[in-house]
Amino acid sequence: MADQKTDPLYHREGHLHTHTTTLSSITPLSSLPAATQPLFKPPPDKEPYILTTPSTIFHAQGGGQPSDTGTITLTSPTPSGNDPKFAVHQVRKVSAAILHLGTFEPADPRFTPAELGLPVRQAVDVPTRALHSRLHTAGHVLGLAIHLLSRAGEAGLPKDLRDGKASHYPGAAFVENIGLIPGDAKAAIQDKVDELVRLDLVVAIHFWSGAEAGVKCISGLDGAAVAEGEEVRVVDVGGLGSYPCGGTHVRTLGELGRVVVRNIKRQKGISKVSYEVVDA
Ligand SMILES: [Zn+2]
Repeated sequence: MADQKTDPLYHREGHLHTHTTTLSSITPLSSLPAATQPLFKPPPDKEPYILTTPSTIFHAQGGGQPSDTGTITLTSPTPSGNDPKFAVHQVRKVSAAILHLGTFEPADPRFTPAELGLPVRQAVDVPTRALHSRLHTAGHVLGLAIHLLSRAGEAGLPKDLRDGKASHYPGAAFVENIGLIPGDAKAAIQDKVDELVRLDLVVAIHFWSGAEAGVKCISGLDGAAVAEGEEVRVVDVGGLGSYPCGGTHVRTLGELGRVVVRNIKRQKGISKVSYEVVDA
């Protein structure tokens, strides 16, 4: 299973909420290699399975963005009347394979080997995806606002601030910067974020060569190794800033609502700026 290669369709079609593909495999989580099983946190009360398909619209956890959730069902019941409903709880990438962890709701019927190769319909949970996309895009906007203030030498930000880690989880979203952001810069950062959102900038996805991405992205390739001939997926915010990124985003910044800068904490030379998104 882990030697499978899954096409991450959400990289090119980031706004597809349903997709028809085929059932490649269905395996109890307990049959996965011992090293792979701990990647998943199954629900305690139901038997967890791992389902794979040749392509997927489910975002796999990574890059600071949580998994999508949703359902995978047959496009039509089998002649014997089998029509299982697979609820996707968590999605992880293992090598080139994207693994969907889920449970059958109800517990029976389940997919059997007889259904392998049959067409299945993927449906992501739209409100969850929308929230994740807003939080993720808001992280880019906040990083960009801090970058613009830093390079302009405004609000007391050092000119050599650099992007650090980021998390876009609901209730725990932050961006880190290497360098010290003074606490009283919060209002100026909020103003800059508001200004960018008000412009309703377009969020575009590009596939660039490693060389092009290394030159044009704000933090270069961010330490990612890019093989010769391999393309890098890049997100661009209104032509003002580009970042290598595998996540899902909103189409224009107007969809974000309001991005609220919550807190600035400094520790060991790193400034952590927490934020959330709220409806405008
Ligand atoms: Zn992104």
